[in-house]
Amino acid sequence: MQPIKQFMQDYPGQIKSKLPQVGTTIFTVMSQLAAENNAINLSQGFPDFESDKALIKMVSDAMAKGMNQYAPMAGLMALREQIAIKTEKLYGVTYNPDTEITVTAGGTQAIFTAITAIIKEGDEVIIFTPAYDCYGPAIELNGGKPMYVQLFAPEYKIDWNHVKKLISQRTKMIIINTPHNPTGKIVTKNDMVQLEKIVQNTDIIIISDEVYEHIIFDKQKHQSASKFPHLAERSFIISSFGKTFHNTGWKMGYCLAPSNLMKEFRKAHQFIVFSVNTPIQYALSEYLKNENNYLELSSFYQQKRDFFVNQIKDSKFKIIPSQGTYFQLLSYADISNEKDTDFAIFLTKKHKIASIPVSVFYHKNTDEKVLRFCFAKKEETLKYAADILNKIV
Ligand code: GLN
Repeated sequence: MQPIKQFMQDYPGQIKSKLPQVGTTIFTVMSQLAAENNAINLSQGFPDFESDKALIKMVSDAMAKGMNQYAPMAGLMALREQIAIKTEKLYGVTYNPDTEITVTAGGTQAIFTAITAIIKEGDEVIIFTPAYDCYGPAIELNGGKPMYVQLFAPEYKIDWNHVKKLISQRTKMIIINTPHNPTGKIVTKNDMVQLEKIVQNTDIIIISDEVYEHIIFDKQKHQSASKFPHLAERSFIISSFGKTFHNTGWKMGYCLAPSNLMKEFRKAHQFIVFSVNTPIQYALSEYLKNENNYLELSSFYQQKRDFFVNQIKDSKFKIIPSQGTYFQLLSYADISNEKDTDFAIFLTKKHKIASIPVSVFYHKNTDEKVLRFCFAKKEETLKYAADILNKIV
């Protein structure tokens, strides 16, 4: 058999990559490496335990009842209503399900859609690095320019003066993320007030990536952009059901925004996915009615964080406190001088444990000898992982 001919080979120069610097996302690379090496996979963030059986039954019931055709473009009204109720209950703000809430195929699609709806050639977008890896490419695909504010281990504090200095006529958007992936840090109320001041009297739009809103530790409060009226009026707020209900493979999320922004969001959304999975939307609209299904998540994950951290407290890894998300950063500066990408590969191949090197989330690949470990795992998995980490000296 002849292998398929490649267009580029026959017509050199015809295809100019829109993302010349971008390779395959680190989550795919590390998960693949873990599988090839039979390593325990704490790299890509996903639970190794099941989503609630009751929720799974609600999905299959919806399918059996024939709810299998296109959902409305913006999402099932019953689900949008439940999202509105949850948001009002938690943050005291009312979003109109008709005009201000859209159900998406996960957080990444919502972020891509919001950026695509707003960003034009030459627009600048401020992002904080280490940054989740979908922001930069989405900005660049739309002709925009990411402007980076670097945060450093172990505090990862935002220097708002630096942000202020980066703002120009071209600044169209700022993307914030709390609880923060990959660092596990959260923003304070004061951070949000600073941001509010900075964007006042500008036309800067905000994306607030809050996909880990329900995973926040030590009795801290989630500072949703929706709680700050001067931010909410210009924000796309993104959330994810996959993180909250342990089913990242379902790819379900949503976006909240004032109606003028949402109108633009939907213009793009309808041609990116049109609408998302119908039976799952039915199930989620029922499941959300019981608030314990999301309110108990913080203590559920806090136990996992504490268990994991306690198991490795005598190891040579240094713990960088996690305040939210299901990620734990560990510094290996006392173990090795190797680059974090090399060290992550070495740990996967030699010690059979996979993590994510944090330098990949910095535009200049700043290497602070820090790895990210996902603790959305069963206790036995965490124990097994800890036993490996404890032996690394
Ligand atoms: N959000 C997940 C993480 O940070 C990965 C999602 C993905 O693989 N695209 O690990």
